[in-house]
Amino acid sequence: MNIEIVRKNSAWKRFQEDLRKGLGHAYIVIGEDSELVSSFLYFASLACFCPTICCECATCQSIAEGSHPDVFWGDGGKMKVKEDVEPMLERVEVKPIQGDKKVFIIENADKLNVVCQNKLLKTFEEPPPHVTFLLGASGESGLLATIRSRGKKLLLDTLSSEDILTELTEDGTDYDTASLSAAYGMGNLTKARLFSQGGDYRDRFEQVFLMMMQLKKSSQIAQYAVGENFTKDNIGMTLDFMEILLSDAMKLLLGSTASTCTVGRENDLMRVSSGFTAAGLAMALEAIQKAREQLNFYVNVANVANGVLFGILEARYKWQKK
Ligand SMILES: [Zn+2]
Repeated sequence: MNIEIVRKNSAWKRFQEDLRKGLGHAYIVIGEDSELVSSFLYFASLACFCPTICCECATCQSIAEGSHPDVFWGDGGKMKVKEDVEPMLERVEVKPIQGDKKVFIIENADKLNVVCQNKLLKTFEEPPPHVTFLLGASGESGLLATIRSRGKKLLLDTLSSEDILTELTEDGTDYDTASLSAAYGMGNLTKARLFSQGGDYRDRFEQVFLMMMQLKKSSQIAQYAVGENFTKDNIGMTLDFMEILLSDAMKLLLGSTASTCTVGRENDLMRVSSGFTAAGLAMALEAIQKAREQLNFYVNVANVANGVLFGILEARYKWQKK
């Protein structure tokens, strides 16, 4: 990930401020986007030793290679028993070799089990003055309250679609795929990247696109509602895709074709939006939002599927062009 993207994050600004004023002994970097969390941890470890984060000097190079004697990486997802944590804790006690501080990074700290977290706790509470811990987590719920309360929380902002688009195209993803993936990612690069890598995600998207093009009358609904798009596993993704398509249909209807996420699919989008007014599309988008809320309570996904499909048809009917 490009450092400039990380620099925009308000969490990064807070961390930089601490670096200037005096680094705390423990930070918990929290974000749902695992790639962003990892990049933040990586650049933060560089910043502790190379103020310009040049990525070229011997110090930056050795951190990148994992050979810097005062930087340690651990993956909470791979630490299962207390013996997995102990080697790291032993190194905490040893004085820094090259500079005046040591940095211990634990990715996926929320995946550490209770035994490992408890083992970590004592050191985490009162590390020697030269030590800083940087924990990465997708959320707070997997962390013990005692760990949570001892670290300074850095909540990551989600990325902009433009930043995700830049990341994906710089890595060689074609523009059309990157644009759609960025829309699907909704601020989450990890999610967008999975989508851009195609396979099942892309197939699913095409299935939903087809359904949205063909959905014209209520007699079709019963069949769609029990289909692949609305299984328990797929319904969340299907709603995301429906939202992307209806939002794009809206942009097309309002004449801002330049910003659609589905690049070069204007004719298909016209089929999705045919018969809709802007007010109708707005109401259809509301039906999707309502379906998401229902999913938090309903067990029966078929009911939610029926509701959202009827909601879309009703929106088209109710706000017909006069
Ligand atoms: Zn450097």
